[in-house]
Amino acid sequence: MPTSSECIFCKIVAGDIPCQKVYEDEHVIAFHDLYPVAPSHVLVIPKKHVSTLMDFSEEDTEQMGRILQGALQVAKKLGLDEDGFRVVNNMGEYGGQTVYHVHFHVLGGRHLTWPPG
Ligand code: 5GP
Ligand code: ZN
Repeated sequence: MPTSSECIFCKIVAGDIPCQKVYEDEHVIAFHDLYPVAPSHVLVIPKKHVSTLMDFSEEDTEQMGRILQGALQVAKKLGLDEDGFRVVNNMGEYGGQTVYHVHFHVLGGRHLTWPPG
């Protein structure tokens, strides 16, 4: 697992790697996924490095809520709330996580299938 100094999402937060920003506040930043799998595909991340969902402790409850609120702001901003959208976190190997800086995918703009593969 990369440390925060090697983490690509920390580099995005620092402005060292460019991104197409959709939303930002004191705690979170949201930007378009580089390889979108839906017409709208945005990643919402905490500015503070946290590797996976499982690394959140009881004390991080407010921080977790802020990330989800960020996802709602993204949905509103992109107009996904009318037709519906999906918020997904991939955790660990079986969950399909590839970047170990916790993030929620906001997916919309088409009918999404269920269950996922
Ligand atoms: P995961 O597979 O960990 O749930 O999601 C990681 C996501 O990050 C993938 O959907 C991938 O396309 C996206 N991604 C990887 N590197 C970059 C990058 O440098 N910039 C952006 N905007 N997205 C990235
Ligand atoms: Zn990071």
